[in-house]
Amino acid sequence: MITKEKSLSVRDRKTIWHPYTQHQLHPDSIGIVKANGAYVYDDKGKRYIDALSSWWTCIHGHSHPYIAKKVSVQLKKLEHVIFAGFTHEPAVELAERLLKKLPKNQKKIFFSDNGSTAVEVALKMSFQYWHNKGTPKTKVIAFKNAYHGDTFGAMSVSDRGAFSKPFASNLFDAIFIDAPIKGKEQEVVSNFRLQVSGCKDKVASFIFEPLVQGVAGMVIHEAEALSEMIRICRENKIFSIADEVFTGFGRTGKFFATDYLSEKPDMMCLSKGLTGGTMAMGVTSCTEDIFNAFLSEDRMKTFFHGHSFTANPVACSASLASMDLMERKETRQSIKRIAKRHEQFSKRIKGNKAIKEIRGIGVIFAIELKTSDETSYFNSIRDKAAKFFLDKGILLRPIGNVIYLVPPYCISDKDLDYIYTSIEEFIRELE
Ligand SMILES: *Cc1c(COP(=O)(O)O)cnc(C)c1O
Repeated sequence: MITKEKSLSVRDRKTIWHPYTQHQLHPDSIGIVKANGAYVYDDKGKRYIDALSSWWTCIHGHSHPYIAKKVSVQLKKLEHVIFAGFTHEPAVELAERLLKKLPKNQKKIFFSDNGSTAVEVALKMSFQYWHNKGTPKTKVIAFKNAYHGDTFGAMSVSDRGAFSKPFASNLFDAIFIDAPIKGKEQEVVSNFRLQVSGCKDKVASFIFEPLVQGVAGMVIHEAEALSEMIRICRENKIFSIADEVFTGFGRTGKFFATDYLSEKPDMMCLSKGLTGGTMAMGVTSCTEDIFNAFLSEDRMKTFFHGHSFTANPVACSASLASMDLMERKETRQSIKRIAKRHEQFSKRIKGNKAIKEIRGIGVIFAIELKTSDETSYFNSIRDKAAKFFLDKGILLRPIGNVIYLVPPYCISDKDLDYIYTSIEEFIRELE
């Protein structure tokens, strides 16, 4: 029997290895017992405002009753079925509804389990497309400081930094280029044009986080320049892959970040907000042309990729419920409201001596603080800030010296104000 004295944290420490955690320095995890709306509650009864939607996932807040209801109905009807040779209503309906929202050139939906697998699938599709056509291409272009996930393919096209260093020699080659941040657009685009003309026969695809590089510290680049880069790729027969794992489902103020672009990508990756943060699921969408390159009498041209839980009906039903919520007027109004409040706060703190830069788009808001070792993810401000905000009942984990907010759309003005005031207080302590 488990005694009351043994807290979750103590039992956890004996048995569990956590993600992105140095257990020597951070042996204890906070035991969470319930969550609703913008709040999570620990086993001591303390409430935290979830200012980053639990790793950017629960866009409508926690334990949403509407999603819970839809999921519970589905659970009793069909919990899972093999997805090769079989299909089901939740998958078909979700594919239909996603395709209505995605750019018009997107025609097919491939399901997987998370953001990293959605990226793996896109990369593998792009490589195999050229293989199937008899003109193999093996390289990928990606942005510097990119983050596309933790599996090997995803790591290969992500920043070669601390996260992937132990695996560096096991990663495939990628060509890293600058993102077209404000003021650098022309330079980046003309360099890109030059580079592409030199390597187009080797490059299968260009993968990018559209408009916002999340893990890089919410670094924002310009839509028009990115559109131009997609156009250059198309002219040179290089596929464009928009990794919308983070930016999808309203985060940037539009349904997809790609909606800001005049040129549309050939493939898109979705996850995180897809199920409203309820369950793990990934989606890769692609054009008819890509799908058609795998059609053949020759079975060797099949896309040999799948996961045990591909298109899990329960995860599909959570996604459908989340899509219903996305379509509600209140949700769209909330996104606007949060974006406006971020802007007002940004004006209020502009010019503060401790701040290097303030960035934002839609509900995404970031403050980059000045530090002596500002390039480091392992910046000392990070631990200090995380503790400061936890003590205040705010779940906020800075990326290095970047304090950022990605709140669920249901967050109240009052809670936002409390977060803003707390951030100001933290910055004041730094001065
Ligand atoms: C989080 C993230 C991923 C990886 O998703 P996981 O579900 O954590 O595997 C990929 N791309 C982007 C842009 C992300 O933000």
